[in-house]
Amino acid sequence: MGYLFEPPAHVRVPVRDEGDFPVGRIICVGRNYAEHIREMGGEDTGEEPVLFMKPARAVALGPDVPYPPATTDLHHEVELVAAIGPGGVIASGVGIDLTRRDLQAGAKQRGGPWEIGKAFDNGAVLGTLKPGPPPSEGGIRLSVNGAVRQDGRLEQMIRTLPELLALIGKYFPLAAGDLVYTGTPSGVGPLLPGDTIEASIDGLPPLSFRMIDRKA
Ligand code: MN
Repeated sequence: MGYLFEPPAHVRVPVRDEGDFPVGRIICVGRNYAEHIREMGGEDTGEEPVLFMKPARAVALGPDVPYPPATTDLHHEVELVAAIGPGGVIASGVGIDLTRRDLQAGAKQRGGPWEIGKAFDNGAVLGTLKPGPPPSEGGIRLSVNGAVRQDGRLEQMIRTLPELLALIGKYFPLAAGDLVYTGTPSGVGPLLPGDTIEASIDGLPPLSFRMIDRKA
């Protein structure tokens, strides 16, 4: 006898011309752009980047994304996202690693894990994936209500996607269904209910969504 519930439908992400990508895990890289490390008060010391995870159910596809509970400082982080298939990377897209910065800062202060700042529902916004090899250069941008907030280049990544995949694989052997968020350039900042967010990476389907009140 089975159970009377199914995984949420949004854990299947649309892939352009290819149907859906079923999400297994969301593996995220922190501290992969030097300017973003600096804006967070650190320095690029050459150490391994931070790795953390979000649950598959954290995926949010828009066009409306509810503002999460328990924060007054929700930040956007635009990131190149790689989708892993049976033989390696099969597609890529534009993602936003939403971060409850106030809760993350508290967790850092206590020297604890970051889950309450990162792993909440609707915290992994993702656009339509494009099949094929991911871009390794080009612009990566995010604007809020038409004002540019993040305007970086994929070439600014401290570790390239192949280097990140090798590093992640040492700890979490990659498997079909994994999504890898590869870190954000500088310019992160707060979002509010009612904001319209547009994000793009050269060569990939653009992402746009509206932040809505949780109860709306
Ligand atoms: Mn991030």
